[in-house]
Amino acid sequence: MKLPAMHVMGANTIDTIEVNEEVMTDSSTLVIHQPKSNQRIGILGGTFNPPHLGHLMMAQQVGTQLELDEVWFMPTAKPPHAPGKTTIAASHRLKMVELAIADNPLFKLQSYEVNRGGKNYSVDTLRHFKENYPETDFYFIMGADSVKDLPTWYKPDELLQLVQIVGVNRPGFMVEQDKYPILWVDSPLVDLSSTEIRLRVYLDQSIRYQVPAVVEAYIQQQGLYAYPR
Ligand code: ATP
Repeated sequence: MKLPAMHVMGANTIDTIEVNEEVMTDSSTLVIHQPKSNQRIGILGGTFNPPHLGHLMMAQQVGTQLELDEVWFMPTAKPPHAPGKTTIAASHRLKMVELAIADNPLFKLQSYEVNRGGKNYSVDTLRHFKENYPETDFYFIMGADSVKDLPTWYKPDELLQLVQIVGVNRPGFMVEQDKYPILWVDSPLVDLSSTEIRLRVYLDQSIRYQVPAVVEAYIQQQGLYAYPR
């Protein structure tokens, strides 16, 4: 489906974008966040299924230690590295990120990949941002598990030409490769994953203090991840 005037490509130029049908339930998710020029912007891509305190802590540490102007939370449309991984509707993931970051002025929701839909490679997304905002420095933030996988990503060398990769340690993942110039930022080790949170909800266990209270309430209201009764 084509929608008008949602994506400003450059100075006063209006483009139309293909919108993934599954996000159409909530029109607010169609706004794509635009950077100002000459900024330093961090991007944390992920499935955010659901977003948890590990995501928020790492984004906060990177954002403040590197003195970034903004940190974008960018949900993927479909995770290209995890075939068969079950995901809920993108509209839920967008909404949960929106709720999770609402109280932090440093954080913004970037719905570019979800709005494009389909399979998005990070290198293509970052090339798009860089072409449209050549004066902006982008910092692509990832946990140690993702850094470890970097050699298997699509065109990692080109990605490194476009952005500075920022790594954050994650319990259980030792990164030994020094093939790429990763900037490591020290952040509290948080042994939390979305997988574990989904499992706890499914088993009817508490997820309090693992996700923001607003995200916990949303999961409950919408009956996400619950054991079917
Ligand atoms: P899942 O368990 O579904 O695979 P996840 O918890 O890994 O999800 P993602 O949304 O896939 O969360 O992660 C987005 C990014 O955040 C990735 O780069 C991942 O490495 C990083 N990340 C997620 N949780 C942590 C954590 N606890 N510590 C450090 N990095 C993390």
